[in-house]
Amino acid sequence: AHPVLDITGLKRHFGGGAGTVKAVDGVSLTIGRGEILGLVGESGSGKSTVGRCAVRLDRPTDGTVRINGRDITRLSRRALRPLRKDFHLVFQDPSSSLDPRMTVGAIVAEPLRLHRIATGDALRERVAALLEQVGLRPEHARRRPHELSGGQRQRVSIARALSVDPRLLVADEPTSALDVSVQASVLNLLADLQRDRHFGCLFITHDLAAVEYLADRIAVMYLGQLVEQAPAAELFADPKHPYTQALLSAAPVPDPPRQRTRARILLSGELPSPLDPPAGCRFHTRCPLATDRCRTEPPALRELPGGGRQVSCHLVADDGTAPDASAPPR
Ligand code: SF4
Ligand code: MG
Repeated sequence: AHPVLDITGLKRHFGGGAGTVKAVDGVSLTIGRGEILGLVGESGSGKSTVGRCAVRLDRPTDGTVRINGRDITRLSRRALRPLRKDFHLVFQDPSSSLDPRMTVGAIVAEPLRLHRIATGDALRERVAALLEQVGLRPEHARRRPHELSGGQRQRVSIARALSVDPRLLVADEPTSALDVSVQASVLNLLADLQRDRHFGCLFITHDLAAVEYLADRIAVMYLGQLVEQAPAAELFADPKHPYTQALLSAAPVPDPPRQRTRARILLSGELPSPLDPPAGCRFHTRCPLATDRCRTEPPALRELPGGGRQVSCHLVADDGTAPDASAPPR
């Protein structure tokens, strides 16, 4: 079977000439049916742009996006319309993505009507069932988005996205605009729905605790490129890339606590501008382990033995032995 999402060599550049912002600069990843891939990185790393390109809300500059084996990279809006049933994006801030003039019932029903999946009583029944599945009550159907809490609004956008049973859900920071007190319940809801419906999910976040809880695999982005990819448990147990090590060392200790294997790694400096990414390894300006080679030669993203792991760092040996960025050589 085809992967639900298959992205190859994706580039998304904005502007031109010396002012070109290379927001995404050569990203390849796949998501299988029923699999959750967590995409993590600092804001400005390009992860939202990957998500927008995956559902063709943004047009890639180069590379290929396939959904269920079908190349959608360059399809016209018109050709895309019937295919949109298969992929949906849930945004960070539901207030900006839900039409304030529509009732909740109409918002959830709209994709079902557009794709001619249900009408009349069947449509009303499906909407009621969807609201129940996301933990809302039947009377919420008559309310408008502003009458709901932030968590309830995000439940509405999840119901809308899942109404047509997509194979791929892209969730871009789906809980980061919500009160901390309701974030966990919305994450639990996503996890439950995914278990029931087996959609593939690209889960974009900077919340490492959320990604550890939800994701099967994790891809780490830095300045428009992937620096590491691994099954979630392996990444948390043994991060190979110095940047991944730094990210994890700064994450709050989960509950129940996991053994910390490394001291906190403080990165010097800000994320460099994607307008002018550093030569060589893009991470060299902040990497505690950078050598002369790192400043000139970009490391390739390599497969490690054992399968399912990739990393781009000159100092990770071919057998997967990785340096410890919390203990740089003096
Ligand atoms: Fe650090 Fe060099 Fe590895 Fe880049 S290639 S992460 S600069 S050690
Ligand atoms: Mg973002």
